[in-house]
Amino acid sequence: MNYEVKKAILDKIKEYDRIFLFRHIRNDGDCVGATKGLKEIIKATWPDKEVYIIDTELAKNLEFMGPEDEPVEESAYEGALGIVLDTASEARISNPNYKLCKELIKIDHHIPLENYGDLAWVEEERSSCCEMVVDFYQTFSDELILNKDAAAHLYTGMVTDSGRFKYDGVTGETLRCAATLLDVGVKTDILFARLYLEAFEYLKFKAHIYNRMEVTENGVAYIYIDRAMQEEFNLTLEQASACIGNLDSIRGCICWIAFIETGDEKNTIRVRLRSRFVHINHIAENHNGGGHACASGATVYSREEVDALLSEADATVAEYKATHEEWL
Ligand code: AMP
Repeated sequence: MNYEVKKAILDKIKEYDRIFLFRHIRNDGDCVGATKGLKEIIKATWPDKEVYIIDTELAKNLEFMGPEDEPVEESAYEGALGIVLDTASEARISNPNYKLCKELIKIDHHIPLENYGDLAWVEEERSSCCEMVVDFYQTFSDELILNKDAAAHLYTGMVTDSGRFKYDGVTGETLRCAATLLDVGVKTDILFARLYLEAFEYLKFKAHIYNRMEVTENGVAYIYIDRAMQEEFNLTLEQASACIGNLDSIRGCICWIAFIETGDEKNTIRVRLRSRFVHINHIAENHNGGGHACASGATVYSREEVDALLSEADATVAEYKATHEEWL
């Protein structure tokens, strides 16, 4: 599928000696895995090419994926190729120097909110952007080299973005891509220990979440995490934001939302929306956000906006439950 655009991307990679890989702000396993995985593939195939991933911060829980590249002079971007992975809109690209690149390519699996770049390969039905990078490798496997490091990065992105191969977007193709990585050799026991083990204190925070969560009339589970709670449990914003995963298995709650106060001067509240069966991306789009049908992000600035967003989610869930049968 999409052979022409993939071939055009391969030709661009061949053409440039210096390539910058970009990802989205608030990085996650998929965008980190996709950038690091593609970098490994390019470096293993063409050792003389310079490939950089310059980001200001790596999420703490992803530090095991290895160190980031040191920043380079802005002039280095000029004349280089930029490839942006896993990022639907320009505003979410974490390194603003992407603008300096001579040409820009977008590779993404989000619902496309806007077009950017000179060349775009978007497949929104893919379970992760890493899956697309593996597909890219498979398409040109007679030319490209996939080493163990690349496989480990890409597998990490695939398992994290697909909820351990659980979400709706997982297809036979997803598992064939994962099989290609396992054939190269991924230490899954170490990876899953890194992904699952939690600090004793963090489990105390989880207990607190379960005590504090609430449910709207029609079945939207939600939690509001203010600054005081984050300070009480000594959490980074990323750690606090990860609590969304704890609301995902409540019978009857087919949508769940976490609101996390960021503590910045604009009183920004990060919103993480998740659902099963029912689509919720339109709610995120109404509140400075977007994402996938069942996993979106948004930003609000007041408790009134929190309530408004919850009302929209509650109405969406009510409508869905009234018109569908096989939900639980
Ligand atoms: P998050 O809850 O931040 O992990 O976001 C869930 C999904 O929605 C991710 O795939 C994000 O890339 C996407 N997303 C989050 N925030 C936004 C936003 N403001 N605009 C567009 N997409 C977003």
